[in-house]
Amino acid sequence: MSGSPVAVAIDIGGTKLAGCLVDGTGDVLHRTLLPTVGKSPDDGERLWGALAGLVEGLLAAAGDRPVIGLGVGSAGPLDLTVGSLSPVNIPAWRNFPLVDRLAGLAPSVPVYLAGDGVCAAAGEHWRGAARDLDDVMMIVVSTGVGGGLVQQGRLFAGQSGNAGHIGHIVVERAGDPCPCGGFGCVEAYASGPSMAGWAQHNGWRRGEFPASAIELAADARDHHPVAVEAFHRAGRALAAGIVSAAAMCDLTHVFIGGGVSAAADLLLPPLREAYRRHAGLDFLTRVTIERAELAAVAGLVGAGAIVFHPQRYGGRGVLHRPAS
Ligand SMILES: [Zn+2]
Repeated sequence: MSGSPVAVAIDIGGTKLAGCLVDGTGDVLHRTLLPTVGKSPDDGERLWGALAGLVEGLLAAAGDRPVIGLGVGSAGPLDLTVGSLSPVNIPAWRNFPLVDRLAGLAPSVPVYLAGDGVCAAAGEHWRGAARDLDDVMMIVVSTGVGGGLVQQGRLFAGQSGNAGHIGHIVVERAGDPCPCGGFGCVEAYASGPSMAGWAQHNGWRRGEFPASAIELAADARDHHPVAVEAFHRAGRALAAGIVSAAAMCDLTHVFIGGGVSAAADLLLPPLREAYRRHAGLDFLTRVTIERAELAAVAGLVGAGAIVFHPQRYGGRGVLHRPAS
């Protein structure tokens, strides 16, 4: 007798590839992490080899449980019209035909692909902090600042899969340059690297490279004034972005996840204070801003969600390639 169905879930990021099996209740099984090998543009096949090995290991680990889909959340940009990726932080892959490759690896299994912030939102809505809520934004504060939206109880990924990209809401009209090529975006103030970079520029651990947001948080807890201000500055930028998003989307709840949310004790108080100053209208004052629940597995649970619940977490902005 065969077991209950599972999805193979993959989360592709600039520093690690994560994979697991997700069962129909959203539980994570056989979680595996690999470094994102190959930083040069010539390393595309090496990176694919590592990912293919990860996927084959998970297909074998499923044993007698039927694999009903292969769900992938990835750092972007993604081209969902052809199923290819060109992640900013993974130079080895430019227009890499990931969906074709995965379909070649497991032809009898449908493949689903969505952005990492979108998957994190699906994961938190299926099994995390956003359960049973209808109008929610998930924000992932990490190497970049990403996000995803749930509207009327369903994932809203937009026409190209990029809705909810709060990191590139402009909060300073003459602001700092952003890795996206624009300037004044939330990400230019609130990502881990932009926080650490600003702090170093202003005298914190000057000359030490690289200094990370983890060290910045440790020093902020020791009341280093520049480190503390880096979190306040990030909180103010996020608050301005959240007010704009909440006004646009009529949100009730916002959840903050990603690596920097491990320092929620430093980030959330100044963020909420700045939010209260910006939020004038009644419907905006009622928005709650909390830490997300699923931490490092939000993207994996979400990659399972887009396989198990395509009605709620699929449609436009989520690629679905049927089994051949
Ligand atoms: Zn930007």
